[in-house]
Amino acid sequence: MNNCPYCGQEMEEGRLMASPKSYFLPLGEEKPMSPFILKGTRAISLAPPLLSSINQANPAFVCRSCKTLIMPFPET
Ligand SMILES: [Zn+2]
Repeated sequence: MNNCPYCGQEMEEGRLMASPKSYFLPLGEEKPMSPFILKGTRAISLAPPLLSSINQANPAFVCRSCKTLIMPFPET
């Protein structure tokens, strides 16, 4: 298990979904019907301009405690 390098809490694995809206989808969580309606799910809504070219197959890790996201990034 990975722990957050900032606060030490356990991080949660998932995928970063980038289109048409950026959000974090935790492992085991079903893809929401609409990425614009994440309320009531465990998905985390993210700022839109951030990650439009992200590879959604890569694992991403979040720390809900200190709002940290860790993942590989694409080189341009
Ligand atoms: Zn943390």
